[in-house]
Amino acid sequence: MKSVERSRGGGGEPARNRACYRCDRTVAPSALFRIEIAPPASLAEKYADAVRYCCEGCAAGMNLSDFSDRWEAAARPRDERSNG
Ligand SMILES: [Zn+2]
Repeated sequence: MKSVERSRGGGGEPARNRACYRCDRTVAPSALFRIEIAPPASLAEKYADAVRYCCEGCAAGMNLSDFSDRWEAAARPRDERSNG
């Protein structure tokens, strides 16, 4: 294996701070959203799979963040509980 010297934007690196792809803010790996882009089969020839990393704020801004059940339960008003 040859060592790559400072290739920008290269993937496959171990966990380290990354820049949010939208706002360019440097985010710790523990707070990064990982967005995997997988094109549909019909467009797979045109588009490649890709991975983007973005910060919590941008994920929320894009409506990408989905809250866990625990958070949803905490945020949901008491009088609006559904019984199944
Ligand atoms: Zn961001």
